[in-house]
Amino acid sequence: MSRFLAARDQARICLVGAPFDSTASYRPGARFGPDEIRRASQGLETFSFDQEHDLEDCAFTDMGDLELPFGDPSPALAMIETATDELMSQGRLPFVLGGEHLVSLGAIRAAADRFPDLKIVHLDAHADLRDDYLGQRLSHASVIRRAVDLLGRDRVRQFGIRSCTREEYPLMKSLAAGVPEIIAWAGGSPCYLTCDLDILDPAAFPGTGTPEPGGISFQNLSDILVCLIGGLNVLGMDVVELAPNMDTTGISSITAAKIVRECIIALCTRR
Ligand code: MN
Ligand code: MN
Repeated sequence: MSRFLAARDQARICLVGAPFDSTASYRPGARFGPDEIRRASQGLETFSFDQEHDLEDCAFTDMGDLELPFGDPSPALAMIETATDELMSQGRLPFVLGGEHLVSLGAIRAAADRFPDLKIVHLDAHADLRDDYLGQRLSHASVIRRAVDLLGRDRVRQFGIRSCTREEYPLMKSLAAGVPEIIAWAGGSPCYLTCDLDILDPAAFPGTGTPEPGGISFQNLSDILVCLIGGLNVLGMDVVELAPNMDTTGISSITAAKIVRECIIALCTRR
């Protein structure tokens, strides 16, 4: 394990890799995401310039990757649900590294069971609100629709969406919100924060399965995540959709690792 992801026993923040990409509809490879985030982290400083805090002073641990089966997503989701539930039962905060976006559903199911007033905050280029994708209701393109089914639309908010089908559009419009609005809406409710890295512009983050032109910058996303983590009662989160095989220069993996670093520091320094 890298020094960036040095293990700390009993740490509250627990990284869990979910190397799964069976429902990727365009370019698979997100299964390689967790390992590449770890590898790229070795090239980064542990000190955050923006937050003036060092990762080495943060209590976090890396549990490694779950051994997820491919094909039918149901067993993989059940394993993610079990693992994240176990961490939450210990009062710890699961921080899932994807994998494709469907992996979030396992963690969301666990969090929804444990926290009946759970709210979901979703950052993405895509609405992920399709009822199904080619008949599959468990798909990266349907993950937030399944969360809406589980919790109701009043308990889900989205930020950064710039692509959806015409069928998704009315629901997407009703869920879209700005960052201050999301923090006010959440109040002190338990929140699960899910970040699909394709919210970034493909120029900054080409290494992803479904790149969508017109996205935000690294600095913008980093600032937004630090702000959300500071303002929300985050009890679980994920960063998903790094596909390193699409990342010819390696910049996407470094970007993902730096986002993870900033999130860990924000989680461990919040009041
Ligand atoms: Mn997306
Ligand atoms: Mn997504």
